[in-house]
Amino acid sequence: MAGIAVIGGGVIGCAAAAWLAADGHAVTVYERRAEDRHASAGNAGLLAFPEITPLARPGVLGSVPRWLMDPLGPLALRWRDLPALTPWLLRFLAAARAGQVERSTAALGGLMRGALDDHHDLARRAGLPNHLRQTGAMDVYDNEASFRAALPEWELRRRLGGHDFEPMTADEARALVPDLTGSFARAVLCRAYWMVDSPLAVLQDLRRSLGDRLVAGAVTAVEPGPDGVSIRLADGTTQTFDAVVVAAGVWSREIVRGLGLKVTLETERGYNTTIPEALVRLPMPVVFADHGFVASPLADGLRIGGAVELAAVDAPANYARARALRQKARAYLPGIPETGGTEWMGRRPSTPDSLPVIGPHPRDRRIVFAFGHGHLGLTLSATTARLVSAILSGTPAPAPFGIERFQ
Ligand SMILES: Cc1cc2nc3c(=O)[nH]c(=O)nc-3n(C[C@H](O)[C@H](O)[C@H](O)COP(=O)(O)OP(=O)(O)OC[C@H]3O[C@@H](n4cnc5c(N)ncnc54)[C@H](O)[C@@H]3O)c2cc1C
Repeated sequence: MAGIAVIGGGVIGCAAAAWLAADGHAVTVYERRAEDRHASAGNAGLLAFPEITPLARPGVLGSVPRWLMDPLGPLALRWRDLPALTPWLLRFLAAARAGQVERSTAALGGLMRGALDDHHDLARRAGLPNHLRQTGAMDVYDNEASFRAALPEWELRRRLGGHDFEPMTADEARALVPDLTGSFARAVLCRAYWMVDSPLAVLQDLRRSLGDRLVAGAVTAVEPGPDGVSIRLADGTTQTFDAVVVAAGVWSREIVRGLGLKVTLETERGYNTTIPEALVRLPMPVVFADHGFVASPLADGLRIGGAVELAAVDAPANYARARALRQKARAYLPGIPETGGTEWMGRRPSTPDSLPVIGPHPRDRRIVFAFGHGHLGLTLSATTARLVSAILSGTPAPAPFGIERFQ
């Protein structure tokens, strides 16, 4: 069998496959459990084009001890997983150096520059309905001090990403988002955010566009050979392709390690609750910046959640985190009901420097990596798809995103 195999049927794998198919390639996507609600199915639905600053920043490191004191706060660590998470955490600390923050921000800014056009292009190629709308987003700050502390990051985003932002008083913010009747001190409006109506609908439409090119199968290994690249499936069979794209979210790391390469990839787990009948109407997503979560208005309902929990991939979910975020949101948006809705946990596939891995195997260009998109997988899905197709056609990959940085 020739053609290109894509491992993973999340938004990255499906977007890459749809782009490749439109470029005339024969593609087969292997997805081991299409019914699972992984990160791509339940995220907040933001096309967060302005978010080009990495998570590891000096300001964030300063807040970590305080956050870790609150097990239901914006950042939690499952302590029993600490030994396994230590390599990631050490690289995270190194990534917070000022020079590295500037380099990562410039790299993400470069990647993000064409991201909106890429979404339009992907929609056209895959025949997707119009899921995209420009809403802007509102970040709210509890007090003047946290607002002032956030301004350098907004300035950096403006300088390296080109997106403007508008500081506001609480009353000015309420004029735009009237349901924000709770207490807060300041806000920032950034008009460059877009949204999709529903991340699940985007994933389902991408999958539908692939038709029978999306097949059920768990890939256990990738084996390059003289006549092609073979994939081994859990049922013991193998299939051989001209090229293979590894887009299996956090689970890509097992495949990468099987290829004799290193990668530092862990999950930043996030939780949310989707309330179909919330009596709250938001014209745009509202980010509770001091608490690390967002309320986003989606076709599925009002989705409240986010935050970060560092834990082993298969650790049991702790939905108390979803409930804690909902309670916090009620302080700003009192119309959110106390109960009801659907709780969810998703695994962001995250690198310590917040840069995705997009590029070929250093010694075999027939194998291309596309994973590690952290908080930005939906946002960068179409751009990743374009790059994967270009790399397989021989175009050099953008250097900062190569897997070489982990070797
Ligand atoms: C709470 C939360 C909110 C978020 N909000 C946003 C947002 O607003 N905007 C944004 O841009 N991003 C957001 N994200 C991040 C985004 O959801 C992820 O970056 C993105 O979904 C990652 O997509 P993926 O395809 O790489 O991984 P996944 O969605 O994890 O998909 C990987 C797929 O690969 C399959 N797979 C794994 N191993 C194998 C194998 N061996 N063989 C076959 N198949 C395999 C899995 O079953 C899975 O379906 C959010 C994430 C969370 C958790």
